[in-house]
Amino acid sequence: MKSICVYCGANFNGDPVLKAAIEKLTARMSERGISLVYGGGSVGVMGLLADEMLSRGGAVTGIIPQFLMDKEVGHKGLTEMIVTSNMHERKKKMADLSEAFLILPGGFGTLEEFFEVLTWLQLGLHNKAIGVLNIGGYYDNLFAQMDVMVEQRYLKQANRDLVFNEQDPELLLEKMMNFSATPDEVWFKDRNLT
Ligand code: AMP
Repeated sequence: MKSICVYCGANFNGDPVLKAAIEKLTARMSERGISLVYGGGSVGVMGLLADEMLSRGGAVTGIIPQFLMDKEVGHKGLTEMIVTSNMHERKKKMADLSEAFLILPGGFGTLEEFFEVLTWLQLGLHNKAIGVLNIGGYYDNLFAQMDVMVEQRYLKQANRDLVFNEQDPELLLEKMMNFSATPDEVWFKDRNLT
């Protein structure tokens, strides 16, 4: 694995457990030569993540639309910054440049990006691993809702199981590196043909 796209908040609540997890995550990524692809901001969890990665000598590519350069304060010290003309271009570029997706705590933007790549995996449009770094159980209610969706038969268990849910960055990275569903397998799972 050469690059991971991380989706995370443009805000940060100061949680020291999250900060420690980001330190561990960026240490493992830089040691293994895995580059970071993210939204390009210098604020919130996004900014913290980029700074931690850079401080460990890791490569960081930011991808930000022009109109957010001021609002999310485009990071000035990245290895590479790609400025897109709109949100859709940003998301496509982030996905295309990455071999896996990681979700850290965030708000609507983070969830939107998470569910987009998850539905693309469910549809077999890519076969890249998706992992949620569920610090302090921040996303427990979201996973509980997924279980309700399975119980109520709006979501297949096999698709519910496509996403990794871990609190430890090292364990999550291990699981993601061993993920190997092919688009065909995902496609068949989605249609309950296996
Ligand atoms: P949030 O999780 O709301 O703090 O947002 C985190 C990141 O997601 C920020 O960089 C937002 O610009 C980005 N974002 C918000 N909405 C969207 C969207 N519809 N498409 C792509 N990125 C988004």
